[in-house]
This record gives sequence, structure tokens and C-alpha cells, in this order.
Amino acid sequence: MADCVFCGIADGRIPAKIVCEDENTIAFRDLSPQAPTHILVIPRCHIASVADTDRSDTGVLGAVLATAVEVAAAEGLDQPGYRLVINHGADGGQSVGHLHVHLLGGRPMTWPPG
Ligand code: AMP
Repeated sequence: MADCVFCGIADGRIPAKIVCEDENTIAFRDLSPQAPTHILVIPRCHIASVADTDRSDTGVLGAVLATAVEVAAAEGLDQPGYRLVINHGADGGQSVGHLHVHLLGGRPMTWPPG
């Protein structure tokens, strides 16, 4: 989508600190990090929200999650631990309308989240 910032990152129109990418997913550092490590993992294809997926999207959802797990390991977060977050809608705190998984690590997380 032309007006989607994450589509712009995925196709190279918008600069980002890319951590890794493959044919289905791309991972890049969050512009406003909420933890020492804060990386976003997105599907290359435009999906507005996790709520717009169904069982036919199992492949893309699995790919995004697998990339997040691999990036977490590559960032050395396996042992201390990390958090994966998907926000949906206004109450969920979603601000960008392109499905993304937040990978947060490098500090102890609190629960419940705010
Ligand atoms: P959410 O609130 O779950 O939709 O998360 C959107 C995230 O995208 C926020 O953490 C923003 O800081 C981040 N963000 C927005 N624009 C960019 C960008 N151009 N590059 C990297 N991260 C971004």
C-alpha cells in the first residue's frame, strides 16, 4: 500500500535499521525503542492487523513468529528472556496499520503491561 509506512520500509522507499529480511518477512529496529532491544517484525504483504487474519494466513503468521524467534536468539535474548507483543486497535495501542510483532528485550519486563 502506497501510504503505509511499513510497506515503505519493506520495499525500501522508507529508510529503517533493518536487522534481517527474507522473502516473507522483514525485521527492523523500532524508531522509538521501549527497551534496550526493540525490534519490529512484519510480513512483506500488507495486512492491516492481526484481527484481519484467519486460518488461511497461518503461513504468514508462522513466518513472522519464526523470524521473531530467530532474531531474538541472534540478539542474545534467549537466556535473559524477551517479550513478543501484537497490538490491535485503539484499546490495544496499535498506531501503525500494518501487522507487526514487537520484540522487546534487554531489561526485565513488568506484568501486567500498561
Ligand atoms: P503499535 O503501536 O503497536 O502500532 O507500534 C508501532 C510501532 O512502530 C511503534 O513502536 C513506533 O515507534 C514504530 N514506528 C513507527 N514508525 C516507524 C518507523 N518509520 N521505523 C521504525 N519504527 C517505527
